[in-house]
Amino acid sequence: MRDDAPDREVAHAAELVARARRVTVLSGAGVSTDSGIPDFRGPQGVWTRNPAAERLSSLQAYVSDPEVRREAWRQRATHPVWTARPGPAHAALVDLERSGRLLALLTQNIDELHQAAGSSPELVVELHGTMHHTECLSCGARAPMAETLARVAAGEDDPPCLHCGGVLKSATISFGQELDVGVLMRARRAAVDTDVLLAVGTSLGVHPAAGVVDLAAAAGAAVVIVNAEPTPYDDVATVVLRGGVGEILPRLVPGPSE
Ligand code: NAD
Repeated sequence: MRDDAPDREVAHAAELVARARRVTVLSGAGVSTDSGIPDFRGPQGVWTRNPAAERLSSLQAYVSDPEVRREAWRQRATHPVWTARPGPAHAALVDLERSGRLLALLTQNIDELHQAAGSSPELVVELHGTMHHTECLSCGARAPMAETLARVAAGEDDPPCLHCGGVLKSATISFGQELDVGVLMRARRAAVDTDVLLAVGTSLGVHPAAGVVDLAAAAGAAVVIVNAEPTPYDDVATVVLRGGVGEILPRLVPGPSE
């Protein structure tokens, strides 16, 4: 991807990060597009190419329509997440942690690529859950996704919960579903307590996740946005860097020994 960010702006953002004692990161689907996982709203996004696909992310449609669930299981079975490897943006955020500045890595991603890259699981706050587990919508039982996908491969096209027979879904937040209160509180605290809020590869169009940007700014933090396209929070930001996260993030983050 092109890196349109002027050197002067990149240097300003790098200085904000270097001077900060605490940096909170909010990452989005754009961090994983270099790893072959499409975003939803970018130019090559799943919903940009096929607006009808948005229905698969609606809790109401998932619960009420067995065909939506069957399609969701077909897509999960062949999802690029199972073979994806972390990219340069994930690696840069591991360097940020090693430099001792990372307060929390808030991610809207459900692919666990931050952890695969080496980010400490204790610092990763998965706002929208994870695809690597299933959760029963009735009894809340969780299981590894691989176990359920094995049932799908064996012929169950809409596998029910093995404990209570309820509807199973990936352990992710769909539209119409509340975020976990404890997870959201943790994210908001990390936004309020930080010197710099670094929002990377996210359209900042999904709430309440995007609201951490306002919280951080109101608490006096510098806000740095790195994204390929404009976001509704660009006016709030101290610095906006337009371009690829894989190209820009390694230029912003101190190396492990710095
Ligand atoms: P989004 O699809 O709304 O926005 C992604 C943004 O990243 C877009 O503005 C796009 O222009 C930008 N982008 C794409 N590739 C980029 C790159 N290489 N460098 C810089 N910018 C790039 O995604 P979102 O804001 O994260 O929110 C959408 C929701 O979709 C989230 O709730 C998330 O749970 C889910 N989602 C997750 C994944 C994943 O886990 N990898 C993938 C798709 C969607």
